[in-house]
Amino acid sequence: MRFPTRQERFSTLFPDEPKFRWKQVQQALFQPGKKSWLECLTLPKPMREMLQQELPWISVEQKALQTNPAEDTYKAVLSAADGLNFETVLMQNAKGQWTLCVSSQIGCAMGCTFCATGAMGLKRSLTSDEIVDQYRFWIAFLRECGKGQERISNVVFMGMGEPLANYENVKATINTWLQHTDIGPVHITVSTVGILWQMEKLLTDPDWPPVRIAVSLHSANQKRRESIVPSTVPNFINLLADWCRAYTQTLGNRRHHITFEYTLIAGVNDTEELARELAAFAKRAGDCKINVIPLNRVPGKSFTPSEEGSMSRFKEIVASYGIDITQRRSMGQDIAAACGQLALEVSGGGEG
Ligand code: SAH
Ligand code: SF4
Repeated sequence: MRFPTRQERFSTLFPDEPKFRWKQVQQALFQPGKKSWLECLTLPKPMREMLQQELPWISVEQKALQTNPAEDTYKAVLSAADGLNFETVLMQNAKGQWTLCVSSQIGCAMGCTFCATGAMGLKRSLTSDEIVDQYRFWIAFLRECGKGQERISNVVFMGMGEPLANYENVKATINTWLQHTDIGPVHITVSTVGILWQMEKLLTDPDWPPVRIAVSLHSANQKRRESIVPSTVPNFINLLADWCRAYTQTLGNRRHHITFEYTLIAGVNDTEELARELAAFAKRAGDCKINVIPLNRVPGKSFTPSEEGSMSRFKEIVASYGIDITQRRSMGQDIAAACGQLALEVSGGGEG
């Protein structure tokens, strides 16, 4: 089922309005400090009143909010108009800047064996309004709780779901943010499990925004990857290397390298041999960086994070080939807000 978008509902309510009205409406949605349509003085009064009655000011509602003791990570459970719930996370770095980790779907169909979201299956894709409004929700939150900067510096599509399985809505969302917020394209990262046909499409899509791409690789060995990432297609590793070179040629530049994410799982993908395979792959792929993430424990899954010693050895080997490899600081584990842990333990399985 497809839900009417905010724009479609606006056009139904006001079929005769000139085009610039919708732009005004969108501008109003992003104006700092506004809490309802009635405060949008750039719109005519009858329109404000009608909107107040007919169209929710924001498409999501807070169901629960959690923070960790350091208060540098917040996780919210949001409820959509159909009563389904999903999660969204806000994290602060050492410089005090906020990164928003958005969900693109409720659950995920990709079934990666180590991911809590994957275990839920897919409930549905989020609409563009619901993704856009995760930003608006957190901006309003930052303003209300007086938490330092009221600005979100970075957005990562690393919450629930596979963004490229919701291509059109993710694209529309990013284009809306680029138009109406101060976030630049290199501060937005779309993380994908590697849906190659969609990745091909974005290379030639004139409306695809110049954001950063991260590919969740987890193993450069075809067989090993198939065993932990079931959506891996035959010959994926070779096709991905080809895609990376095409990407670098068409869209790449100094600020646009590809990042490979690599979740280190003890005894599964952290051996010295696999480190060498990863380095060889990175050389073939061209201009890229590798970001290792220690596995976050997921209830009911037997996987364990790699030991410190194996992680250091793994990184050393890859780096010895001249490859840029860094380790991501894991945040939010204490409130199950870290990568791969989002699965609605507060309210269970997506139902409101
Ligand atoms: N579906 C997209 C984006 C959401 S997942 C993707 O897979 O890229 C965001 C990141 O969290 C991915 O890199 C994913 O591999 C990683 N991840 C999933 N489960 C994890 C876990 N248990 N521990 C650490 N990282 C995990
Ligand atoms: Fe989906 Fe990403 Fe989790 Fe895989 S890691 S199941 S693609 S959310």
